[in-house]
Amino acid sequence: RDLVSPDAEGDEQAIESALRPKRLAEFIGQGRVREQLSLVLESALRRNRPPDHVLMSGSPGLGKTTLAMIIAAELAMPLRLTSGPALERAGDLAAILSTLSEGEVLFIDEIHRMARPAEEMLYLAMEDFRVDIVVGKGPGATAIPLEIAPFTLVGATTRAGLLPAPLRDRFGFVAHMDFYDVPELEQVLRRSARLLGLDLPDAGAHEIARRSRGTPRIANRLLRRVRDFAEVRVDGVITRDVASAALDLYEVDAEGLDRLDRAVLNALLRKFGGGPVGLSTLAVAVGEEPETVEVVAEPFLVRQGLIARTPRGRVATASAWTHLGLAPPPDAFG
Ligand code: ATP
Repeated sequence: RDLVSPDAEGDEQAIESALRPKRLAEFIGQGRVREQLSLVLESALRRNRPPDHVLMSGSPGLGKTTLAMIIAAELAMPLRLTSGPALERAGDLAAILSTLSEGEVLFIDEIHRMARPAEEMLYLAMEDFRVDIVVGKGPGATAIPLEIAPFTLVGATTRAGLLPAPLRDRFGFVAHMDFYDVPELEQVLRRSARLLGLDLPDAGAHEIARRSRGTPRIANRLLRRVRDFAEVRVDGVITRDVASAALDLYEVDAEGLDRLDRAVLNALLRKFGGGPVGLSTLAVAVGEEPETVEVVAEPFLVRQGLIARTPRGRVATASAWTHLGLAPPPDAFG
């Protein structure tokens, strides 16, 4: 598995939960989202009512699950966690909804991957705190309405654009999470180093932060690999040189691009002369699903100014050529 893959697996989940900020005031970055959310929560607390449903969109590892947990903590309410792919049938969702307690926060990760019948049940639940349980089949089937406790839905998606409009419209607040900048990632790293008892001078934090693909999850993961190196090869202090040597060893590139990012850039430059090329053609060239290229690689490459989306397709910018050590053609984009 790639060191800079934004998904968390296995043991990492336990370490992640130890490093998770527990309250809004501890949550680093995403200033606008934090401020908007704190208003939504504060006002709900004052009115003594559950807040509007919240939708969070953004790339993997930016802190959507963390924020959902914080919402529940700030409201002093329990949190129920599930995910779109786990809700295959309407019954799966009904079982959860009918056992929610008043004010509970329900977190649905990857909400865009929920099955259609569950989605339709959710509309009614979000709006009227009611579900219709269908009993029987065919013309004799009847719907029995069932009241459910007022709750707050927190949905997370990597692709807000994929949500059907009726679902999107039922969220009172949509938080767009963006990649973190280097100073914010330095803060995340300093906080984690403190919690893990590591010696991380600022220059070391800076070196790791700029290679973390704008993503706190990756920053924390790289920190642990650099720690291994610092403890085994030197005296444990994570200086800039130590961080840089460790990350070179693990083949994390100077801008934090991962294997897929580099494959996409390579194909775009070497096979398609810098584009423009359509998303699906590009995806075939790197052997991935178009959705993976679009959701996982592209947002970061665009944010780094390495590729641009144009009406005619994806094009490489002059910096992309330079990044791969190639001379940009005279008509290179940007
Ligand atoms: P996914 O959707 O892939 O599960 P996510 O967006 O829900 O990802 P989280 O699991 O919330 O991401 O965050 C990943 C890790 O990054 C957490 O363990 C947490 O330690 C760290 N993290 C995320 N956001 C922040 C933040 N703002 N400040 C400090 N640490 C953060």
